[in-house]
Amino acid sequence: MKIFCSAEHQRKHDPRTFLVSGAQRPSPETPARLDRLLEAALGAGHTLAETDERGLGPIAAVHTPEYIRFLARIHERWARIEGASDEVIPNIHPDRRLAAYPRSAVGQAGYHMADTACPIGPDSWESIRWSANSAVCAAEHVLGGDPMAYALCRPPGHHAFADVAGGFCFVNNTAVAATVLRRRHERVAIVDVDLHHGNGTQGIFYHRADVLCVSLHADPARFYPFFWGHEGERGDGPGLGYNLNLPLPRGAGDEAFLGALDAGLERVEAFAPGALVVALGLDASEHDPFGGLAVTTGGFGRIARRLAALGLPSVIVQEGGYLCDALGDNLTGFLNAFETGANGTA
Ligand SMILES: [Zn+2]
Repeated sequence: MKIFCSAEHQRKHDPRTFLVSGAQRPSPETPARLDRLLEAALGAGHTLAETDERGLGPIAAVHTPEYIRFLARIHERWARIEGASDEVIPNIHPDRRLAAYPRSAVGQAGYHMADTACPIGPDSWESIRWSANSAVCAAEHVLGGDPMAYALCRPPGHHAFADVAGGFCFVNNTAVAATVLRRRHERVAIVDVDLHHGNGTQGIFYHRADVLCVSLHADPARFYPFFWGHEGERGDGPGLGYNLNLPLPRGAGDEAFLGALDAGLERVEAFAPGALVVALGLDASEHDPFGGLAVTTGGFGRIARRLAALGLPSVIVQEGGYLCDALGDNLTGFLNAFETGANGTA
Protein backbone atom coordinates (compact mmCIF):
# COMPACT_ATOMS: atom_id res chain seq x y z
CA MET A 1 0.00 0.00 0.00
CA LYS A 2 1.01 3.62 -0.34
CA ILE A 3 3.03 5.18 2.50
CA PHE A 4 2.63 8.89 3.22
CA CYS A 5 5.56 10.43 5.06
CA SER A 6 8.01 13.28 4.76
CA ALA A 7 10.96 11.83 6.61
CA GLU A 8 13.22 14.84 6.11
CA HIS A 9 10.77 17.13 7.97
CA GLN A 10 9.25 14.65 10.41
CA ARG A 11 12.64 13.52 11.68
CA LYS A 12 13.63 16.96 13.01
CA HIS A 13 11.58 16.99 16.24
CA ASP A 14 13.97 15.44 18.77
CA PRO A 15 12.58 15.64 22.34
CA ARG A 16 15.16 15.51 25.11
CA THR A 17 12.96 15.51 28.17
CA PHE A 18 10.89 12.64 29.52
CA LEU A 19 10.01 12.19 33.16
CA VAL A 20 9.20 8.71 34.45
CA SER A 21 8.02 8.64 38.05
CA GLY A 22 9.84 11.92 38.52
CA ALA A 23 13.13 10.69 37.08
CA GLN A 24 14.53 12.11 33.86
CA ARG A 25 15.00 9.50 31.09
CA PRO A 26 15.74 9.70 27.37
CA SER A 27 12.53 10.20 25.38
CA PRO A 28 11.45 7.01 23.60
CA GLU A 29 9.71 9.14 20.92
CA THR A 30 12.90 9.43 18.88
CA PRO A 31 13.49 10.25 15.20
CA ALA A 32 14.89 6.70 14.88
CA ARG A 33 11.33 5.35 15.25
CA LEU A 34 10.44 6.95 11.94
CA ASP A 35 13.50 5.51 10.19
CA ARG A 36 12.82 2.03 11.56
CA LEU A 37 9.15 2.07 10.56
CA LEU A 38 9.82 3.51 7.11
CA GLU A 39 12.62 1.07 6.37
CA ALA A 40 10.42 -1.86 7.41
CA ALA A 41 7.45 -0.73 5.31
CA LEU A 42 9.62 -0.14 2.24
CA GLY A 43 11.37 -3.46 2.77
CA ALA A 44 8.01 -5.23 2.75
CA GLY A 45 7.19 -3.76 -0.67
CA HIS A 46 5.00 -0.82 0.32
CA THR A 47 5.78 2.30 -1.67
CA LEU A 48 6.35 5.90 -0.74
CA ALA A 49 3.86 8.36 -2.22
CA GLU A 50 4.16 12.10 -2.67
CA THR A 51 3.44 13.95 0.57
CA ASP A 52 3.07 17.66 0.01
CA GLU A 53 2.25 20.77 2.02
CA ARG A 54 -1.50 20.93 2.67
CA GLY A 55 -1.49 24.13 4.71
CA LEU A 56 -3.04 24.84 8.08
CA GLY A 57 -6.66 24.36 6.98
CA PRO A 58 -6.96 20.65 7.85
CA ILE A 59 -5.23 21.27 11.22
CA ALA A 60 -7.53 24.25 11.93
CA ALA A 61 -10.54 22.00 11.28
CA VAL A 62 -9.57 20.09 14.46
CA HIS A 63 -7.58 22.50 16.64
CA THR A 64 -8.27 26.01 17.98
CA PRO A 65 -6.58 29.07 16.43
CA GLU A 66 -4.87 30.03 19.69
CA TYR A 67 -3.44 26.52 20.07
CA ILE A 68 -2.08 26.50 16.51
CA ARG A 69 -0.50 29.90 17.09
CA PHE A 70 0.98 28.57 20.34
CA LEU A 71 2.54 25.51 18.63
CA ALA A 72 3.93 27.63 15.81
CA ARG A 73 5.48 30.39 17.93
CA ILE A 74 6.03 29.24 21.49
CA HIS A 75 9.59 28.02 21.11
CA GLU A 76 10.78 31.34 19.74
CA ARG A 77 9.05 33.21 22.58
CA TRP A 78 10.32 30.76 25.21
CA ALA A 79 13.90 31.16 24.01
CA ARG A 80 13.70 34.87 24.85
CA ILE A 81 13.07 34.15 28.54
CA GLU A 82 16.33 34.58 30.42
CA GLY A 83 17.58 31.26 31.76
CA ALA A 84 14.80 29.24 30.10
CA SER A 85 15.30 25.59 29.21
CA ASP A 86 16.07 24.57 25.61
CA GLU A 87 12.65 22.97 25.31
CA VAL A 88 9.23 24.32 26.19
CA ILE A 89 8.03 22.35 29.22
CA PRO A 90 5.15 23.43 31.45
CA ASN A 91 5.73 24.03 35.15
CA ILE A 92 2.12 24.84 35.91
CA HIS A 93 -0.85 22.54 35.37
CA PRO A 94 -4.12 24.44 35.63
CA ASP A 95 -7.19 22.35 36.28
CA ARG A 96 -9.50 25.16 35.16
CA ARG A 97 -8.95 26.62 31.74
CA LEU A 98 -12.18 28.61 31.50
CA ALA A 99 -11.34 31.75 33.44
CA ALA A 100 -8.79 33.48 31.24
CA TYR A 101 -6.19 32.91 28.57
CA PRO A 102 -2.76 33.76 29.97
CA ARG A 103 -0.55 36.15 28.04
CA SER A 104 2.82 34.85 29.21
CA ALA A 105 4.70 32.05 27.46
CA VAL A 106 4.97 30.11 30.74
CA GLY A 107 1.25 30.50 31.41
CA GLN A 108 0.35 29.41 27.89
CA ALA A 109 2.63 26.36 28.16
CA GLY A 110 0.63 25.34 31.24
CA TYR A 111 -2.65 26.05 29.45
CA HIS A 112 -1.82 24.06 26.31
CA MET A 113 0.29 21.17 27.63
CA ALA A 114 -1.33 18.42 29.70
CA ASP A 115 1.93 16.92 30.93
CA THR A 116 5.72 17.11 30.57
CA ALA A 117 5.89 14.42 27.85
CA CYS A 118 5.42 16.82 24.95
CA PRO A 119 8.45 19.15 25.05
CA ILE A 120 8.67 21.61 22.15
CA GLY A 121 12.10 22.24 20.64
CA PRO A 122 13.25 24.55 17.83
CA ASP A 123 12.23 22.18 15.02
CA SER A 124 9.16 20.62 16.58
CA TRP A 125 6.56 22.66 14.71
CA GLU A 126 8.06 21.68 11.35
CA SER A 127 7.78 17.98 12.22
CA ILE A 128 4.31 18.40 13.73
CA ARG A 129 3.00 20.11 10.58
CA TRP A 130 4.50 17.52 8.26
CA SER A 131 3.22 14.67 10.37
CA ALA A 132 -0.25 16.19 9.87
CA ASN A 133 0.45 16.65 6.14
CA SER A 134 1.10 12.90 5.96
CA ALA A 135 -2.31 12.20 7.51
CA VAL A 136 -4.05 14.66 5.18
CA CYS A 137 -2.38 13.29 2.04
CA ALA A 138 -3.18 9.69 3.03
CA ALA A 139 -6.84 10.56 3.67
CA GLU A 140 -7.12 12.50 0.40
CA HIS A 141 -5.54 9.55 -1.41
CA VAL A 142 -8.26 7.28 -0.03
CA LEU A 143 -10.94 9.81 -1.01
CA GLY A 144 -9.38 9.60 -4.48
CA GLY A 145 -10.34 5.94 -4.72
CA ASP A 146 -7.54 3.79 -3.27
CA PRO A 147 -9.16 1.58 -0.60
CA MET A 148 -6.29 2.10 1.87
CA ALA A 149 -3.26 4.21 2.76
CA TYR A 150 -0.68 4.31 5.52
CA ALA A 151 0.20 7.67 7.10
CA LEU A 152 3.56 7.33 8.83
CA CYS A 153 2.86 10.11 11.30
CA ARG A 154 5.61 11.09 13.69
CA PRO A 155 5.28 12.77 16.10
CA PRO A 156 2.11 10.83 16.94
CA GLY A 157 -1.21 12.51 17.68
CA HIS A 158 -3.89 10.64 19.63
CA HIS A 159 -3.22 12.26 23.03
CA ALA A 160 -3.67 15.76 21.57
CA PHE A 161 -7.00 17.50 22.29
CA ALA A 162 -8.36 20.47 20.35
CA ASP A 163 -6.20 22.85 22.39
CA VAL A 164 -3.96 20.68 24.56
CA ALA A 165 -0.81 18.66 23.76
CA GLY A 166 0.23 15.64 25.85
CA GLY A 167 2.01 12.29 25.79
CA PHE A 168 4.37 12.95 22.80
CA CYS A 169 1.41 14.34 20.79
CA PHE A 170 0.68 17.84 19.44
CA VAL A 171 -1.63 17.72 16.41
CA ASN A 172 -4.14 14.87 16.42
CA ASN A 173 -3.32 13.25 13.08
CA THR A 174 -6.01 10.60 13.50
CA ALA A 175 -8.67 13.29 14.02
CA VAL A 176 -7.26 15.24 11.07
CA ALA A 177 -7.54 12.15 8.82
CA ALA A 178 -11.10 11.46 10.04
CA THR A 179 -12.07 15.07 9.36
CA VAL A 180 -10.70 14.87 5.81
CA LEU A 181 -12.70 11.66 5.25
CA ARG A 182 -15.81 13.47 6.53
CA ARG A 183 -15.66 15.67 3.40
CA ARG A 184 -17.15 12.72 1.53
CA HIS A 185 -18.49 10.31 4.18
CA GLU A 186 -21.33 11.17 6.56
CA ARG A 187 -20.06 8.81 9.23
CA VAL A 188 -16.44 7.87 9.95
CA ALA A 189 -15.27 5.32 12.52
CA ILE A 190 -11.97 5.47 14.38
CA VAL A 191 -10.54 2.31 15.92
CA ASP A 192 -7.54 3.02 18.15
CA VAL A 193 -5.42 -0.05 18.93
CA ASP A 194 -2.55 1.80 20.64
CA LEU A 195 -1.48 0.57 24.08
CA HIS A 196 -2.66 3.89 25.54
CA HIS A 197 -6.16 5.31 25.47
CA GLY A 198 -6.68 7.81 22.63
CA ASN A 199 -7.85 10.52 25.02
CA GLY A 200 -7.30 13.46 22.68
CA THR A 201 -9.27 11.81 19.89
CA GLN A 202 -12.05 10.99 22.33
CA GLY A 203 -12.08 14.59 23.55
CA ILE A 204 -12.27 16.05 20.04
CA PHE A 205 -15.29 13.96 19.03
CA TYR A 206 -16.94 13.47 22.45
CA HIS A 207 -20.02 15.58 21.65
CA ARG A 208 -20.45 14.36 18.08
CA ALA A 209 -22.46 11.54 16.53
CA ASP A 210 -20.77 11.61 13.10
CA VAL A 211 -17.43 10.14 14.23
CA LEU A 212 -17.49 6.96 16.30
CA CYS A 213 -14.43 6.51 18.54
CA VAL A 214 -13.50 3.01 19.69
CA SER A 215 -10.33 2.59 21.75
CA LEU A 216 -8.64 -0.58 23.04
CA HIS A 217 -5.96 0.05 25.62
CA ALA A 218 -4.39 -0.91 28.93
CA ASP A 219 -6.77 -0.10 31.79
CA PRO A 220 -6.11 3.54 32.75
CA ALA A 221 -6.83 2.84 36.42
CA ARG A 222 -3.09 2.14 36.67
CA PHE A 223 -1.74 3.35 33.32
CA TYR A 224 -1.29 6.53 31.28
CA PRO A 225 -3.40 8.61 30.57
CA PHE A 226 -5.10 7.77 33.92
CA PHE A 227 -7.90 10.36 33.73
CA TRP A 228 -9.52 9.11 30.52
CA GLY A 229 -10.22 5.76 28.88
CA HIS A 230 -12.62 4.25 31.39
CA GLU A 231 -15.65 2.23 30.33
CA GLY A 232 -18.14 4.79 31.63
CA GLU A 233 -16.99 7.46 29.13
CA ARG A 234 -19.59 7.00 26.41
CA GLY A 235 -19.83 10.44 24.84
CA ASP A 236 -22.01 13.39 25.80
CA GLY A 237 -24.98 15.31 24.40
CA PRO A 238 -25.51 14.34 20.76
CA GLY A 239 -22.34 12.23 21.06
CA LEU A 240 -23.75 9.97 23.79
CA GLY A 241 -23.21 6.38 22.68
CA TYR A 242 -20.62 7.27 20.03
CA ASN A 243 -17.57 6.64 22.21
CA LEU A 244 -16.58 3.14 23.25
CA ASN A 245 -13.67 2.40 25.57
CA LEU A 246 -12.45 -1.18 25.91
CA PRO A 247 -9.83 -1.22 28.68
CA LEU A 248 -7.77 -4.39 29.01
CA PRO A 249 -5.97 -5.77 32.06
CA ARG A 250 -2.22 -5.19 32.17
CA GLY A 251 -0.34 -7.96 30.37
CA ALA A 252 -3.31 -9.03 28.21
CA GLY A 253 -2.25 -10.97 25.11
CA ASP A 254 -3.67 -11.74 21.67
CA GLU A 255 -6.83 -13.57 22.70
CA ALA A 256 -8.02 -10.90 25.14
CA PHE A 257 -7.15 -8.15 22.67
CA LEU A 258 -8.94 -9.85 19.77
CA GLY A 259 -11.97 -10.55 21.95
CA ALA A 260 -12.26 -6.85 22.82
CA LEU A 261 -11.64 -5.93 19.18
CA ASP A 262 -14.57 -8.10 18.09
CA ALA A 263 -16.83 -6.21 20.51
CA GLY A 264 -15.52 -2.93 19.10
CA LEU A 265 -16.05 -4.05 15.50
CA GLU A 266 -19.64 -5.04 16.22
CA ARG A 267 -20.20 -1.49 17.36
CA VAL A 268 -18.49 -0.16 14.22
CA GLU A 269 -20.69 -2.30 11.96
CA ALA A 270 -23.86 -1.09 13.71
CA PHE A 271 -22.68 2.51 13.12
CA ALA A 272 -22.45 1.79 9.35
CA PRO A 273 -19.61 4.22 8.62
CA GLY A 274 -18.48 5.15 5.13
CA ALA A 275 -14.78 5.06 6.06
CA LEU A 276 -12.38 3.97 8.78
CA VAL A 277 -9.32 5.42 10.48
CA VAL A 278 -7.10 2.95 12.31
CA ALA A 279 -5.01 4.66 15.00
CA LEU A 280 -2.16 2.17 14.78
CA GLY A 281 -0.10 2.15 17.92
CA LEU A 282 2.32 -0.76 17.98
CA ASP A 283 3.16 -0.31 21.67
CA ALA A 284 0.68 -3.02 22.68
CA SER A 285 3.48 -5.37 21.56
CA GLU A 286 4.85 -7.90 24.04
CA HIS A 287 8.29 -6.49 23.22
CA ASP A 288 7.52 -2.77 23.49
CA PRO A 289 9.55 -0.97 26.19
CA PHE A 290 6.31 0.31 27.79
CA GLY A 291 5.41 -3.28 28.65
CA GLY A 292 1.68 -2.72 29.16
CA LEU A 293 0.15 -5.46 26.99
CA ALA A 294 1.49 -8.58 25.27
CA VAL A 295 0.28 -8.66 21.66
CA THR A 296 2.50 -10.84 19.44
CA THR A 297 3.69 -10.04 15.94
CA GLY A 298 1.22 -12.62 14.63
CA GLY A 299 -1.43 -10.93 16.76
CA PHE A 300 -0.97 -7.64 14.89
CA GLY A 301 -1.67 -9.55 11.66
CA ARG A 302 -4.88 -10.97 13.11
CA ILE A 303 -5.96 -7.51 14.31
CA ALA A 304 -5.33 -6.17 10.80
CA ARG A 305 -7.32 -8.91 9.07
CA ARG A 306 -10.35 -8.23 11.26
CA LEU A 307 -10.17 -4.49 10.63
CA ALA A 308 -9.74 -5.06 6.89
CA ALA A 309 -12.75 -7.40 6.87
CA LEU A 310 -14.96 -4.37 7.53
CA GLY A 311 -14.37 -3.66 3.83
CA LEU A 312 -14.20 0.12 4.38
CA PRO A 313 -11.96 2.72 2.74
CA SER A 314 -9.26 2.94 5.41
CA VAL A 315 -6.52 5.29 6.52
CA ILE A 316 -3.99 3.71 8.84
CA VAL A 317 -2.40 6.42 10.98
CA GLN A 318 0.78 5.68 12.93
CA GLU A 319 0.50 6.43 16.64
CA GLY A 320 2.83 4.94 19.29
CA GLY A 321 5.21 1.98 19.12
CA TYR A 322 8.76 2.33 20.41
CA LEU A 323 12.16 0.98 19.51
CA CYS A 324 12.49 -2.75 20.04
CA ASP A 325 13.59 -5.57 17.74
CA ALA A 326 10.00 -6.44 16.85
CA LEU A 327 8.89 -2.92 15.87
CA GLY A 328 9.45 -3.25 12.11
CA ASP A 329 7.95 -6.75 11.94
CA ASN A 330 4.91 -5.62 13.91
CA LEU A 331 4.28 -2.86 11.39
CA THR A 332 4.76 -5.00 8.30
CA GLY A 333 2.80 -7.84 9.89
CA PHE A 334 -0.09 -5.39 10.26
CA LEU A 335 0.19 -3.68 6.85
CA ASN A 336 0.64 -6.90 4.89
CA ALA A 337 -2.26 -8.62 6.59
CA PHE A 338 -4.47 -5.55 6.16
CA GLU A 339 -3.73 -5.41 2.45
CA THR A 340 -4.32 -9.13 1.98
CA GLY A 341 -7.51 -9.01 4.05
CA ALA A 342 -8.86 -5.98 2.19
CA ASN A 343 -8.16 -7.64 -1.15
CA GLY A 344 -10.30 -10.57 -0.07
CA THR A 345 -7.55 -13.12 -0.54
CA ALA A 346 -7.45 -14.18 3.10
ZN1 LIG B 1 0.83 4.59 23.07
